[in-house]
Amino acid sequence: MKNKIYCEVCLLSFIHKGEVESGQVVVCTICGAELEINSVEPEITAARLTQDPETEIRNRSENFARLRGYTFNEDKELVIEGLLEKNEMFGDFYCPCRIENIPENVCPCLPTRMNEVRKWGHCY
Ligand SMILES: [Zn+2]
Repeated sequence: MKNKIYCEVCLLSFIHKGEVESGQVVVCTICGAELEINSVEPEITAARLTQDPETEIRNRSENFARLRGYTFNEDKELVIEGLLEKNEMFGDFYCPCRIENIPENVCPCLPTRMNEVRKWGHCY
């Protein structure tokens, strides 16, 4: 069975293969965010899984890398640190390399979700 789930992190819907039930944790196949299923009837609703910020952004980036077949470069810890700072200051994981704190720049940012890594060999 295929289920369409809206991801409030990347603001897109993805298809989850297999059954879902409320309380279940699923990974967004577009951005790697971990979501907790809130309800399944009449439609599936999910929200960001509540976890500490460091666990959340580490899991999200590991999931995203695994889904895309990417590997981390030597700047990983620096970027994670920057993301945690942005989250603390501005309330979400905006890319520390980008100036604007807008939904498109929430890690993994829109260009990265749109395969920019394939073009440049790395994210911005
Ligand atoms: Zn997502």
